[in-house]
Amino acid sequence: MSLPMIRLSISPTNGTAHHGVLIGTEPLTVCATHSTDLAPIAENTTHSLCQSCTRAWLILTTQPHPGGERDLRPAAGTGKGATAHLPIPGHLLGYCGKSLGPRSTSARRVCANCSALAAALERFHRLAGEVSVSFDGSCPRDEDLLWAPKGHANLVTGHRRRAATGTGLCDAPLAGPNPEATNECAPCRRAWRTERDRRTAALPHMRARARWWDQRCELDTFQGRADGLNPGDAYALSGCPDQHHVLTVTHPARGRQLAVLVYVPAADEIVELGLHPDRLLAIERPHAPEAGIPTLP
Ligand SMILES: [Zn+2]
Ligand SMILES: [Zn+2]
Ligand SMILES: [Zn+2]
Repeated sequence: MSLPMIRLSISPTNGTAHHGVLIGTEPLTVCATHSTDLAPIAENTTHSLCQSCTRAWLILTTQPHPGGERDLRPAAGTGKGATAHLPIPGHLLGYCGKSLGPRSTSARRVCANCSALAAALERFHRLAGEVSVSFDGSCPRDEDLLWAPKGHANLVTGHRRRAATGTGLCDAPLAGPNPEATNECAPCRRAWRTERDRRTAALPHMRARARWWDQRCELDTFQGRADGLNPGDAYALSGCPDQHHVLTVTHPARGRQLAVLVYVPAADEIVELGLHPDRLLAIERPHAPEAGIPTLP
């Protein structure tokens, strides 16, 4: 029997929450924060999640990069001899939260903060045994789903969810899927209709590009971070079998996810995805200027 991962906090309503498990009645957090006052909390509370636990969660739920993972990487913008960091699988992000460079490092000295989180996770696995987490994998294809707003004020009206922010298209904070909703929020419906028309218009252009991609090979291929993506690139990433052709990239406020509108040839559709800015991608970029490539809409 594997233990389910839950959120734990000292306060039932607010403050800092951690990821962890209950072993019997004993709380155990992944970041090694310990207090006998830690207790399971309800979903959709206003807690802010502990930074170490947020990164531990990425470590537990992201599959390794398809091209293989380096054991250690230098921080972004530092030289070969600089302190080495432990990379979170599928990311150019250290266990300690530092942005990392795509190269390997010859440094022997490993960052103390990275080592501390690695030790906490090792201890967590030793004490908790098997835990059930699902890999955060393939692109979500649940855009037809309606969602309930936070606070469960109104369960009759459902909202459309924006993948990158997790809020409604009408900006309402959302709690979870609400398949029982019988109405659709009017601002959400209007926004979704506009968005769908825009995607329908863009679809033939993106199809043509994807076909061109398979026939030509004048492409630069490199490993890079998600926040370096350009419209017109294609990328692959761990946990998802699909190729993604980028239509637009929206850079959000600091600390938030990127919103990327992509064409997925395997599904022949355009979807919006949220990407961690430090997500490690295998990127293909056409040599510029490339004659004959169908232009972006
Ligand atoms: Zn924590
Ligand atoms: Zn580090
Ligand atoms: Zn709405």
